[in-house]
Parts: sequence; C-alpha cells; structure tokens
Amino acid sequence: MKRRHLFPVAIVVGVPGVGKSTVLELVKEKMRSNGYEMIILNYGDYMLKELKSKGLVEHRDQLRKLPLRIQVEHQANAAIEMMSDALKMLKDPSKSVVVIDTHLIIRTPLGYWPGIPDHVAHEFKADVIILIEAEPEDILKRQLKDTDRVRKDYSSIEVIKEMQNLNRYIAFMVAHRVGSAVKIVYNREGQADDAANEIVSVFKNLVE
Ligand code: ATP
Ligand code: AMP
Ligand code: MG
Repeated sequence: MKRRHLFPVAIVVGVPGVGKSTVLELVKEKMRSNGYEMIILNYGDYMLKELKSKGLVEHRDQLRKLPLRIQVEHQANAAIEMMSDALKMLKDPSKSVVVIDTHLIIRTPLGYWPGIPDHVAHEFKADVIILIEAEPEDILKRQLKDTDRVRKDYSSIEVIKEMQNLNRYIAFMVAHRVGSAVKIVYNREGQADDAANEIVSVFKNLVE
C-alpha cells in the first residue's frame, strides 16, 4: 500500500458550528495569495450529492438521520471519490494541499458514529489532522445564529463539551492508523482570521 498520495492531505474536523468551513475559506484565499493551490472537499457535499439524487434527503442536516447502513455505504464511496477527484482537479499535486472538511464523530439516532473509520483513514492517508476547537458557549451561539443549518441535535453545552473531549482522543486514534500529525487550532470569537493564519503556516510546511 502506498504510504501517501502525490499531494498533501489535511483532514479538518471539529464540532458542528465551530467554524471549520468559515475558517477554511479564509485559509484558501490566503494560500491562493501566497501562490499555492488548495482544494477543499466537503465530505457532507459528497454524501449529499449521492443521497439527494436518490431522493433520500433534501438537505445536509438530514443525512445523519438516515439508516446507518445507508450512511456507512455512502461514507465509503465518498472517500474514494474525493481522492479520485482531487487528483483530477490539481494542476501541480506536489505544490497543492487537499483539505477534507469533515467530522470525527457524527451524532446519529443509533449513537455516536465515527466519521473517519479505519478504511476511510487509509483512503485519505492524511499528513495532518487539524482539530478546530472553541469555547463551548461560543459554539452554541454560532450554531444558533447560523439559521441556514439545522444543528439542534448538537445544540447543548453538555453535548459540545463531550464531543470536543472525545474528538481529541479520536484524532490521535485516527492519526496512529496512518501516521498523521495532529494540530489543535483555537477559533476564538471574532478571530477566525487568526485561526486561518495558524492553519496557513501548517499548510506551508506541507508544501515548501
Ligand atoms: P458544520 O460542521 O456544521 O458544517 P462548521 O464547523 O463548518 O459547521 P461554520 O458553518 O463554518 O461551522 O460556522 C458556523 C457559524 O459560526 C457561521 O455563522 C460562521 O459565520 C460563524 N463563525 C465561524 N467562526 C467564527 C468566529 N471565529 N467568530 C464568530 N463566528 C464565527
Ligand atoms: P457538515 O456540513 O460538515 O456539517 O456535514 C453535513 C453532514 O454530512 C454531516 O452531518 C454528516 O451527516 C455528513 N458527513 C460529513 N462528514 C462525514 C463523514 N466523514 N462520514 C459520514 N458522514 C459525514
Ligand atoms: Mg461546515
């Protein structure tokens, strides 16, 4: 088995509403202005495309409520598809970063379910796992003001604290599978730009 892809891969995770997608858009812009290519692949987008086309869901926050076996099957397919798309999209793979915007834990009706089980970790062979954290009270506020999303099942301080705690352990478990580094980045209230700068310095290390 090849140890790494031709391009560096970063998996970015964190509790829903912590600000992953927001911070990553800032990172992408900063990388671009530094002359680097970066593509963001959102795991939820891949799951949604397939399951919406089959008429099983209408929006992304319904995905985690589907029967788990359906999610398991599409999770596996999505990871393979993402890595194949990445290779097609990149102009200069060794000078680019591929970022997977996803979750280590998904809250399903059956219980907590791993977003990056072993077979998915081996598909990505990530160089680094970036865990974005924030104050639980801030995450709750961000979820509540973000009215385009339905994150009620994550909207409690207890759940957020428990998930942030579990995420640290799981990040290291996944990292051990393929030898990824783990970087914890704090996304302070009103300071997404600082979090983005921290991630840019990690990514520069991957491409320089
Ligand atoms: P999900 O996992 O559910 O996709 P996410 O981690 O990608 O969530 P975002 O959608 O990026 O979270 O952000 C959630 C909300 O928090 C958005 O309204 C965003 O503008 C806001 N937000 C992100 N970072 C900060 C920050 N540092 N300070 C204040 N608000 C923030
Ligand atoms: P997001 O927009 O990142 O909150 O993702 C939306 C939804 O996509 C999540 O609530 C999950 O249902 C699904 N999803 C995201 N990442 C994964 C993953 N690694 N495995 C399975 N489902 C995922
Ligand atoms: Mg997001």
